[in-house]
This record gives sequence, structure tokens and C-alpha cells, in this order.
Amino acid sequence: MSAKKANLSGELKKYFGFSTFKGQQEEIIENLLDGKDIFVLMPTGGGKSLCYQLPALISEGTAIVVSPLIALMKNQVDAVNGLSSDEGVAHVLNSSLNKTQTKQVFDDIKSGRTKLLYVAPESLIKEDYLEFLKDVKISFVAIDEAHCISEWGHDFRPEYRNLKSIIDKIADVPVIALTATATPKVQDDIQKTLGMIDALVFKESFNRANLYYEVRPKVNVDKEIVKFINQRKGKSGIVYCLSRRKVEEFAQLLQVNGINALPYHAGLDQKVRVANQDKFLMEDADVIVATIAFGMGIDKPDVRFVIHYDFPKSLESYYQETGRAGRDGGEGYCLSFYDPKDIEKLEKFLAQKPVSEREIGLQLLNEVVGYAETSMSRRQYILYYFGEIFDPVTGEGANMCDNASNPPKLKDATEDLKKVLEL
Ligand code: ADP
Ligand code: MG
Repeated sequence: MSAKKANLSGELKKYFGFSTFKGQQEEIIENLLDGKDIFVLMPTGGGKSLCYQLPALISEGTAIVVSPLIALMKNQVDAVNGLSSDEGVAHVLNSSLNKTQTKQVFDDIKSGRTKLLYVAPESLIKEDYLEFLKDVKISFVAIDEAHCISEWGHDFRPEYRNLKSIIDKIADVPVIALTATATPKVQDDIQKTLGMIDALVFKESFNRANLYYEVRPKVNVDKEIVKFINQRKGKSGIVYCLSRRKVEEFAQLLQVNGINALPYHAGLDQKVRVANQDKFLMEDADVIVATIAFGMGIDKPDVRFVIHYDFPKSLESYYQETGRAGRDGGEGYCLSFYDPKDIEKLEKFLAQKPVSEREIGLQLLNEVVGYAETSMSRRQYILYYFGEIFDPVTGEGANMCDNASNPPKLKDATEDLKKVLEL
């Protein structure tokens, strides 16, 4: 075992140039190489990709990597191909490839040269792909962003639900599922749907100790945000709004107030959208005002604040979105504005949905309300939601929220005191 361990560090250095594994990466990789099914719950930025990339690179055959977004897959394929001097180590397989390109991918897989094959679940069901994959050597299957399997997750994709039966058709190999979504409900759902109840589970803490959480009542929200941003001139931040219209209006309002802000939502022209995102990433714009369309797969390490103009639909989304602040470990201020009327609007919207979706939506909203209105440690609340026990006094980052640094009872007392003094 120790020989293998020494070897793994060598391979890590050789391919990635890193000297040490992050968190539980090494144990995860060892167990996967031993043929075990594995479930990895690790916050964004924890280093999940390496948990399947490294073992794929050093195993015989091709690892199938299921991933939901073409853009994410392309980034990873480019990155993996950059790690090795051999050509065709990683490929994407999808319907955008022409005949020649598809043949090239198939040839590379047959030759044993391709170590990672990225596919979207909707591609995996294509009959000719399936037929081909049945006949080649598959090392293991990795399912990235595995929360897409669950309706309780924040990004449900119906195509993910049939993965188990498709994988069973292709090969009897170990499966590694990975996600940054760790609510016990989602976890349970994923394991059941993938038939991996007995999988080894690796869970890292979801505590982001460098993030400061604050919830303010939604009054004078425009002014409050302008003031907040002006106190942080030149720093990077994201403002999330629920509607595209609000995104455009508010980006304009910030511009009028001399803030270098740009809008981002799925309704913008593709070119404008990409240009705005790039300007934000390249520091040509300080602030991006966005719908939830912005963020997945975006890794800007020095985002200093995330503001929720509107409260998100679930605590899960709140955690993912606020999580884009302070990725470099530096300051990350998470400021959200809460108005019970907004929640009522969301409830009305849910009323038009099918029953099952509505029930899930309402339950998620209840948890949002609980969080927004709590007077306990926000960090403790969030972590409890992820099934983690957090000590609000001694835990890491314990003082990093409004309720801890300025307890509501004290606030009320000050208000009372003021009234008394005015009398
Ligand atoms: P996740 O998918 O969990 O959000 P990624 O796989 O994208 O995380 O990795 C996040 C960052 O961590 C990447 O920049 C990656 O290069 C880096 N990383 C991963 N493993 C290590 C390691 N062992 N040492 C140093 N950096 C690492
Ligand atoms: Mg990832």
C-alpha cells in the first residue's frame, strides 16, 4: 500500500505538478483504484476533478465522465490535454462532432490513448455511442455534478435520472459520483438513484470560514447596495437578481451611480453575454449584475462580495451563490436582502407548477424563510442544513455573521434604549 501511495504522489507531481493532495483526494483515488464505488461531497473549489482525472490517467482503458454542461466539459478536456504530451488523452463525445471527428474519437479510444471521455447524459443514450462503448475497455465511470440527478438539488436535469441503467449496459465498473451539494435529502436521492447505497462516502466540511453572512430587511435596497459597493471601490462583486428585467434595470442604476457594472442573463445576446462575463473575469468591470445563469463553472478567485438583491429560492442556491465569494480564502462578504413579500411572490409562482414540484419548492422556501428570520448563528444554520454540527462559539468563523457580531437581542435593546432616552 505504501508503495502505491508513494507512486500516487509521483503521478500527482508528474501530471499536475502538485506536491501534495488536497483534503481526502488520495484516499478517494486509492479506493477507486481498488474498485470501490465512491460518493464525494466536497464544496466547490475542493478539488473534485482531480479525484477522477488522476486515476483515469494512470488506469488502463478509458474513464467515462458524465457532466451536464458542454462549456464545463470543453474546459476540462483542454486542461487535461494540456497535462500530457500525448494527443487525444481527453475527448468530448457529442452530436456537435462531424463524422470524421467522431471517428477520430472512436479510433483514439480503441487505441487506448484516450483516458477520459466526457459525455453529457443525453449523448450517452445514443444507440451508436452505446454500441461502441460496450466493446471497449472502460476503467470507471465518473458522474460530476451528481446533484443534477435529484429534484431536491438546485439544478435538476431529467436526463440524469436514467444514468444507472445506461451505465449498467455499458460496463460493470466502479462508479464515482461527485457533488458540491450535500443536503442529506439530495445525498440520499443520488445514492438511491445510482444504486450506490453501499458506496464509500467521503464528505468534507462545507464551512466557508472566511465568508461573512448578513441578511438585511429589504428597505431602500437600491441606496443600500450603492453605498455598500462604493465603500469597496475597485473590488470585484456579484449582485444576484431573480428576473432579467431587474438585472438590466439595476446594472443601469449602478452605472448611473458611477459603478463599473455590467448585466448578465440568459436572455442577452450570446456575444454580449460572453463579452460581459470576460470583462468581469479580466477586471474590466468591477461588478456583474446577474441572474442565476451566471456562475456555474466560473472560477474567479478574488470575488470580494456577493449581494442578493432578491433572496434565492433555496438555501442550497444561497450557499452555492454566496460561495463564489472569497474563493482565494480572502475576504468574502455575503449580503442578502429579505422581504417576506418576495417569498409570497415565489409561492404564487409555485402555485402554477405540478404538485410534486410545488411541494418541493414550498419546503425549500420554508427553509429560506427560517434562515432569513433566524437570530442564531447563520453559519450554524447553513451547516445544520448540510447535516453538519457547528459550534457557534468555538467553530471556525463563528463570529463571521450579523447575528454573531451584532446579536439581534442587543440591537433591539439599543432601539429600546434610544426610545427611552428620547422620551
Ligand atoms: P471542484 O470541482 O471541487 O469545484 P476543481 O476540481 O475545479 O474543484 O479544483 C479547484 C482548484 O483546486 C483547481 O484550480 C485545481 O487545480 C486545484 N487543485 C486540485 N487539487 C489540488 C492539489 N492537490 N493541490 C493544489 N491544487 C489543487
Ligand atoms: Mg467541479
